[in-house]
Amino acid sequence: MSFPWSTKNLPKQIFINNEYVNSKSGKKLTLNNPKDGSLIADDVALAGAEDVDAAVAAAEKAFPAWKKMAPTERRNIMNKFAELIETNTNAIAELSRVSLGAPFKAFGAFEVGLCAEAFKYNAGWIDKFGGESWPQEDGFLKIVRNEPLGVTAGIVPWNGPVGTIGLKAAPALATGNCFILKPSEKTPFSSLALGTLIKEAGFPPGVFQILSGDGSTGAIIASHMRIRKVSFTGSISTGKKIQEMAAKSNLKRVTLELGGKSPAVVFDDCNLDNAVMWTANAITANTGQVCFAASRVYVQEGIYDKFIEKYKEAMQNKAKEVGDPDAEGTNIGPLVDEAQFTRVRGFIERGQNGQGKLLVGGQRIGDKGFYIEPTVFVDVDPKSEIHCEEIFGPVSVVKSFKTEEEIMKLSNETNFGLMAGVFTQDINKALRVASDFESGMVGVNCVSLMFMVTPFGGSKESGVGRECGIHALRAFTEPKTIMVNMSY
Ligand code: NAD
Repeated sequence: MSFPWSTKNLPKQIFINNEYVNSKSGKKLTLNNPKDGSLIADDVALAGAEDVDAAVAAAEKAFPAWKKMAPTERRNIMNKFAELIETNTNAIAELSRVSLGAPFKAFGAFEVGLCAEAFKYNAGWIDKFGGESWPQEDGFLKIVRNEPLGVTAGIVPWNGPVGTIGLKAAPALATGNCFILKPSEKTPFSSLALGTLIKEAGFPPGVFQILSGDGSTGAIIASHMRIRKVSFTGSISTGKKIQEMAAKSNLKRVTLELGGKSPAVVFDDCNLDNAVMWTANAITANTGQVCFAASRVYVQEGIYDKFIEKYKEAMQNKAKEVGDPDAEGTNIGPLVDEAQFTRVRGFIERGQNGQGKLLVGGQRIGDKGFYIEPTVFVDVDPKSEIHCEEIFGPVSVVKSFKTEEEIMKLSNETNFGLMAGVFTQDINKALRVASDFESGMVGVNCVSLMFMVTPFGGSKESGVGRECGIHALRAFTEPKTIMVNMSY
């Protein structure tokens, strides 16, 4: 089967029971291209309660056989799906780019690759995710099985629309759950297009379904009485609502991957060029729309002036990489839409009003589309909005510090706890600081990165639970203890 989808033939229907169908809600999503604001489509399905019920019913029907499928068979389907994603990387990335604005080389290829890799990685776990057994000398053999939960769902954001599918769907399906995907209303096309590949890979009907929609669709999923788990990536405010809806409905299990305001602490004894390279890349990748971007940069006073000079130059160079996401050589695209553009500009404007000093950037680029210069504030008030809140754009704050004690206190004085970075050539200091950070992930002489094999997620209000590695499989299963009376 060939892949029929492109920006000239957009998928606009939901995918239930291995078929594309119209939504029963009759409501539609409207999408614009962030590079020039032009209309892409105003007739994309928005799934409502009846659609969610239909998907849940199909998933419940599919679950018993999927759960019992031989591990090698399930593995082969997942690997085939990964291969199909890889084969169609360009088309899938284009379907994201048209409404996200992320250039192919700098982001699109990476996140489609991440999705394919997640399917291969989790497929490899299927026959290795063993349970446990415990000594029987007390007369009882104890066996612990990893049991799937049943019908599960993933609600994903727009900033990594394909990568986040892999992080959720792959461990869910590998462990024998059925999975319903709810893409963001800002980036539905690449997700919807996967329906064709789901069918071709051989997933049985009802196992892997896609419901495009907005927050209302997400809320129906989060409060559904027969969905047993929701894995959510998005903002903290929505994450809190989802946890509440989950608790008020059927106490479904919840994994939350939420926002951040991650610190990078740069000590006098670091390799300066390395620190500048990582911190500048961290806040400009995907136009700063990255949950674990290092957006607070703290620099020790001995190298502060030199760092500022180089960081400013790096950000000015980044400004030259901003452009049309469809053009060769563009590394940084526009912000995702007008709402995000207005939000980020609001932060920049208010920031100049007594919160800090604008070092570089701050301006719109061009007069159409949602482009913004990479922006840095210095001398920021630590209590100010630009220092404390997640901006989710290419905007960082830089502050100098004297002592490790002082800067660890400031780094941790936040309710976020996703990522942190420390730059130093002193191994003892690096490990001490890494332990002292209150965050789910820490980079030493690097920052804002992730690996498929290690836990990904945040502490404090940045999240609940972890994705990636064995942690993702645990998040989609529950241990069942079987006790065998050996004297019977
Ligand atoms: P968002 O919370 O607005 O939306 C995320 C998803 O939730 C979308 O699919 C949306 O339709 C859905 N949703 C919205 N309201 C809902 C409701 N009431 N009930 C159920 N679902 C609802 O977030 P966003 O703007 O799409 O993404 C940006 C945020 O995501 C940032 O805060 C960013 O830091 C965070 N993020 C976190 C990670 C991570 O892994 N920690 C990764 C990417 C993005």
